Amino acid sequence: MTGKKAPMLSKSRFMAGLQCHLRLWYECYNREFASEVSPVQQAVFDAGHEVGRLATQLYPDGVLMEEDHLHHEDAVKSTLKAMENPKVAAIYEAGFIHDGVRIRVDILERVGDGKWNLVEVKSATSAKDIYLPDVAVQYHVLRGLGLDIDRIFLMHLNNRYVYDGKKVELEKLFSRTDLTKKALIYQNQVPSLLTIFNDMLAHPDAPNIKPDRHCSIPYDCGFWEHCIQDMPEHWVMTLTGISQKNMDELEAQGVRDIKDIPMSFSLSTLQDRIRSCVINNQAYVSSDLKDELKDMVYPIHFLDFETLFRAIPRYAGTRPYQSIPFQWSDHILFEDGVIEHREYLCEEDKDPRKEFTLTLLDALGSKGSIVTYTNYEENIIKGLTYKLPEYRDQLLALLGRIKDLHKIVSKKFYHPKFHGSFSIKSVLPALLPELSYKNLEIQEGQLAGLEYERMIEPSTPAEEKGKIKKNLLTYCGHDTLAMLKIREELSA
Ligand code: SF4
Repeated sequence: MTGKKAPMLSKSRFMAGLQCHLRLWYECYNREFASEVSPVQQAVFDAGHEVGRLATQLYPDGVLMEEDHLHHEDAVKSTLKAMENPKVAAIYEAGFIHDGVRIRVDILERVGDGKWNLVEVKSATSAKDIYLPDVAVQYHVLRGLGLDIDRIFLMHLNNRYVYDGKKVELEKLFSRTDLTKKALIYQNQVPSLLTIFNDMLAHPDAPNIKPDRHCSIPYDCGFWEHCIQDMPEHWVMTLTGISQKNMDELEAQGVRDIKDIPMSFSLSTLQDRIRSCVINNQAYVSSDLKDELKDMVYPIHFLDFETLFRAIPRYAGTRPYQSIPFQWSDHILFEDGVIEHREYLCEEDKDPRKEFTLTLLDALGSKGSIVTYTNYEENIIKGLTYKLPEYRDQLLALLGRIKDLHKIVSKKFYHPKFHGSFSIKSVLPALLPELSYKNLEIQEGQLAGLEYERMIEPSTPAEEKGKIKKNLLTYCGHDTLAMLKIREELSA
């Protein structure tokens, strides 16, 4: 121990330390090791802030502490001032420092008799236990400063709330779960955890922690790319479905590469197959793969949907996080080899589901297999039967025609370059590198939904809308062409 001064902790650093000491170390000393925040991650943060802002409307006569995290001490001063003013019923983003920990309380509600409620807002749809340390460390700081905390609440979204299309009813959109009892039990651990974190941070060297399953539990760690940079291409973690227990055992034996896993080590059938493929550097092809791929009726429709997935519902009759389909692409392969492409993209800010359904039913007709990648499209179609009961029979008739290419590939084929993943984003570059997603502006479904929202926003300039439209059509079309080509490649 050098006795170096430990940096100030915060609520997020406390949570980082609980997940992984190395993560906390990097958060404090090596932020430059973190990967860049992706547009999707940024959108998730922004959605969280939007939910937080809406929640404050349930606590009127409150004031917002506007100072950002770089001006925490100013936020603390403003908070004290607001607390002294009895007319202030609630303080949003209230800032405090105690015991070497800085916190911002989402909502500090004045409840009379000098008491306050601590309200933490989350954009999740339930009060999971992973939020307990989050509120417990805030309680530790507030109690340490002498605040009389009456109740500890978690405000989260209510996924049974249905928007009527007129005004979001905040009382119904949010649910409030009382976590007081559980948080008080948890907060007994906070002082010792802070001591452990501070001791670790005062050490001259970073803790020696290897990446494994803990890196994504409960949150994906932003230092992942940095931590795995020296791992072999076929690192044991990429073995599909490997348990933490098996990871630990292999680490203890000094085994990091799949090819070095001893034959005596017990693996599942798929894991064993992957190991053989890696050792022999060749693909596994089931003897009935081609039969499965050929067991389809022409014209074969390769189908993909893009959907909106919003915390705050946008259209009448929808719930938080309900998937709303706004785009489809269908590459149609005829028996004579001719390929036709049909597509739909809703370009207006309106509930797209009826137009989506009508155009889709027209394109798919009543003949031919429908190839999807995973059962996502099937679930969306089932969802549409409730929204549009008048088309229920036609929609249900589609389900019997669906063939899930993902299921076929994951059961009947493996290539070492899949690196344990059967997602189309892994399968396509391994089989057909010239068709990789790399050069596309939109490379994943979540980003497609976010870009769509940007496109239908009235304030987005027309030129930008045009670009987004082109990118969306390219991305969705690429997905369906990819399926067609994967089937072609594996059937050859
Ligand atoms: S990637 Fe894993 S090991 Fe590395 S800092 Fe993050 S949680 Fe810790």
